[in-house]
Formats: sequence, structure tokens, C-alpha cells
Amino acid sequence: MRVLLALGGNAMTNAEGRARVEDQIAAAEVAMEAVADLLAQDVEVVITHGNGPQVGNLLVKNELAAAVVPPVPLDWCGAQTQATLGFVLMDALDASLLRRGVLRRSAAVVTRALVDSSDPGFEHPTKPIGRFLPAEEAQLLVEHGETWEDRGEKGWRRVVASPEPLEIIDAPAVQALVEGGFVVVANGGGGIPVVRDGDGNLRGVEAVIDKDLGAALLARTVGADVLVIATDVPHAVLRYGTPEAGDIGTVTVDQLRAYAAEGHFASGSMGPKVDAACRFVERGGSRAIITDLAHLTGALRGDVGTVVVPAT
Ligand code: ADP
Ligand code: MG
Repeated sequence: MRVLLALGGNAMTNAEGRARVEDQIAAAEVAMEAVADLLAQDVEVVITHGNGPQVGNLLVKNELAAAVVPPVPLDWCGAQTQATLGFVLMDALDASLLRRGVLRRSAAVVTRALVDSSDPGFEHPTKPIGRFLPAEEAQLLVEHGETWEDRGEKGWRRVVASPEPLEIIDAPAVQALVEGGFVVVANGGGGIPVVRDGDGNLRGVEAVIDKDLGAALLARTVGADVLVIATDVPHAVLRYGTPEAGDIGTVTVDQLRAYAAEGHFASGSMGPKVDAACRFVERGGSRAIITDLAHLTGALRGDVGTVVVPAT
């Protein structure tokens, strides 16, 4: 069995979402313990991860240091977080495997994902990123060509395009490493968004791809049997946050789509996970799971978690 494991932001920060170096290392250790358990059971694992808090921190550095060192664009921030989180995850995985006496090599691939330059997201950016700023400071950045929105009491926030990932450019490299027996970390943060110019060249763009939609695409690309979206809740929930809340267990993709249409899943959080899980199964994946790391093994057995299966 081959599993594509998508680690959420919470799997790379502490419980309050802090992303100090020690928080990220500690979170990576917890996640890679779970991965090592799977590898020890002969489950093949390909890993991807979010990077929201890490990119947020890089953007603050950009802002604060702009007068001294040139700010780098968002695609560069994405590449930097792929590399850093990749090596942090590999260190943690090596340690977990060593303790088990399991010998597996890992590799982190800086991964580009193709998006369409005419994606509607570029006309109407919707994805909020980075920290809130007071209006005057935001205005300066607007003058530099960025889009910022008034978010009321908290201040202003930058919004960028969140284009649909169409193709994982570096999938052949990922595939070759997987076939060569490596545990691969790839397509972090949904992939570095690139567009193809008229002359066929690739160029990075200022956008962020949804990590879960990127994970669904990577899962199909590497021929995963199961897509696991590991987040900080054990299930997707109906009537979330109300007294009538109810966990979703094993569910057909049609039923889950129907729940989504009824508005059960918040657009910035559970919504894209549900969409990614449905896409993977609709396009031939055998199962998609939404759960937390603590329930990973049980969810793969089908005992717990939200398990999305093909329509009967
Ligand atoms: P990650 O950082 O792992 O990608 P997110 O924070 O984006 O995760 O999404 C997970 C969060 O989604 C949960 O912590 C929960 O607060 C929120 N959420 C919104 N709607 C639902 C729902 N219907 N069921 C479960 N969780 C939901
Ligand atoms: Mg989160």
C-alpha cells in the first residue's frame, strides 16, 4: 500500500500555532514517529506538508528588512520553506527509523506546480497571507503593487491568488526516487506556483497553492492508494461547532460532496481538505482519509477518522 501523507500546519508548529525552530523540530518528530510506524509495517509513504506559518514568518522578515536586503517574492518563500521543512522532516525521520532499526533513506524535492496564468485567482485574489498591519503600513505595500484588504478590527491583510494546481512539474523526479525506495518529501506548501510563458519557459508567480489540493494532485501523480490529510481534528464534522455536531466516519464521495454543498465545511480550513479528499477518490483513488496523526494507524484500518470511499 502506498500512502500520500499531507501534514497540516499544526503538524509543523506547536499547539498554539507558534513556529519557533524548536516548535517545528518537536512537531516534525511527532509526525515522523507516525511515518516510521507505517514504514515499519511495510506501508510506503510519500510526504507533503503545509507551510503557512513558515511563509508568514518569512514575509514579516521581508517587511522588516526591506530597507536593508531586497525582499524576495512569494515563490522564493515557498522554495525556501520546502527546503527547510524537508531537511527538518528528514532529520526527524532518520532518528525515528534508527530507533526502530529500520533502514530507509529519504529525500526532499524542491517541487514546482504548474498553474494557469489566466486562473481567475490572479484577477481576484482571495487567499489571506502573512500578518495584519495598520492601514498606513498596508497602504505602502499597496503602492508597491500588493493587494491588501481591510479586515476590520484586526487591521489589513495581504491577499494573493490561490490558483488551481494543474500539473506537478517535478513529478518524474519524485516518482524515480519513490521507485528507488526513498521516502520522499515533496510539493510542500502545495508546490511552488509556476506559469508557462509563451516561449515555453517556466516562471514563478506570486501566489499560493492550496496545500490539500496540491496533495491530491501529487497523490494521483505518484499512484498512491490512499491520500491521508493529517490535521488537528480526528474527523470532519457535520454542524461543526454547534451542540448538534456529529463526526463523519466512513462516507461515500457523493455523500461527502452533498454535505459540502450544504455548507458544513469552512472555506479556509476544512473545505479544501474535503474537496481534496473527494477529488482524489473521484479520479480513481481507492480511499482518502481526514484525521489527526494520533489516529493515523486506526484510520488506515478503517476504525476511525473520516474515510472517503468511492460511490457504490
Ligand atoms: P491544517 O493546518 O492542518 O491544514 P486547518 O486549520 O486549515 O488545518 O483546518 C483544520 C481546522 O478546520 C480544524 O482545526 C477546525 O477548526 C476547522 N474546521 C472547520 N470546519 C470544520 C468541520 N466541519 N469539521 C472539522 N473541522 C472543521
Ligand atoms: Mg491549522
